[in-house]
Amino acid sequence: MSIRYLDNAATTPVRREVLEAMTPYLTSHFGNPSSHHTIGEQAARALADARARIAAVLGMRSTDIVFTSGATEANNLAIKGVAIAAQQRRGARHIVTTPIEHESVLASIDYLVRIHGFDASLVPVDATGRVDPTAVADALRDDTAIVSIGYANNEIGTVQDVAGLVGAVGGRAPLHLDAVQAAGWLPLAATGADAVSIAGHKIGAPKGIGVLGIRARIPLEPVLHGGGQERERRSGTENVAGAVGLARALELAESERASGAARVAAMRDELITGVLERIPVARLTGHPMHRLPGTASFTFAGVNGETVLLELERRGLVTSSGSACAAGSDEASHVLLALGVPPDQARTAVRVTFGHDAEGSVAPIVDAIEAAVAAVRSGV
Ligand code: PLP
Repeated sequence: MSIRYLDNAATTPVRREVLEAMTPYLTSHFGNPSSHHTIGEQAARALADARARIAAVLGMRSTDIVFTSGATEANNLAIKGVAIAAQQRRGARHIVTTPIEHESVLASIDYLVRIHGFDASLVPVDATGRVDPTAVADALRDDTAIVSIGYANNEIGTVQDVAGLVGAVGGRAPLHLDAVQAAGWLPLAATGADAVSIAGHKIGAPKGIGVLGIRARIPLEPVLHGGGQERERRSGTENVAGAVGLARALELAESERASGAARVAAMRDELITGVLERIPVARLTGHPMHRLPGTASFTFAGVNGETVLLELERRGLVTSSGSACAAGSDEASHVLLALGVPPDQARTAVRVTFGHDAEGSVAPIVDAIEAAVAAVRSGV
């Protein structure tokens, strides 16, 4: 039985072109970019080149790019770094976000509340997972340090009205976007946000490399202290091969974005229509239109979601309940609860996420989901 991987929001395989671009920097060109000899300078040049190429995709300057170990670190750095710097400089002590953010955002804010005396406003989302930009503007205070909102949600795929948010915040506080799930599907260059987080492993680069793009004028207190790499913003010897790989992956994703997004969105819509038609208890979670091209997410009331996942895997389909972080836990998703989904129903979530290169018929996937749900319902 061949396995079909439909959990691309959790992670993606490294692309061949990315691995090829990285290989020299793992082998012959292995230098430390801080070293002042030819081998080190070779690595420093590769890092500078990767930085410039990533900045171009993000519509930022090279000096705005901070390499991190991934998006968890990028989100921690954006939120803690901007908030603590703003507290030091202007007495800021307030953060605005939503209740459906990734754990790395919510836990960073929780840390600032517990340890550094910040208040957090969690602006509610509607039943589709969208936040009203006016409500975000209303939550702003003179002492707001940062607004952090996910461009697109990892569990339900809902895409926020980023232009509306940029306009509503209007420069009164820096706006940070967790763009991890948006990368490769949605435009990144002209969002108007002040800071964006990206993770390599969602777009065909390896795990362990990410970027915080943050306008250099925004004061940022480091989270990792040490040798002062990344213009004193993130200490630690840089992952040169990872940075080169991320640059290649982002460029490829950007060049293939328009055609890939249209093709995969059509597959997603066919899948959603098929599942909703054939399985009466199925409900779509997230926004019907403003959603990531690769994400179809459902609940199946009365049917144990984890058991559906196992049944799907028996039929060769690898899917997920929503968040890789919460996988295997009995807790209902904080995202679905914030949308107003009852806890029992939230525990039945199943998420199908296509890769950027997905193609072909979705009929076998619809068949398998129908059969898996039927098997769980009949207790077979
Ligand atoms: N933010 C979102 C929206 C995500 O989906 C993820 C990964 O699942 C992260 C942040 C964390 O990224 P990383 O795995 O690179 O730490």
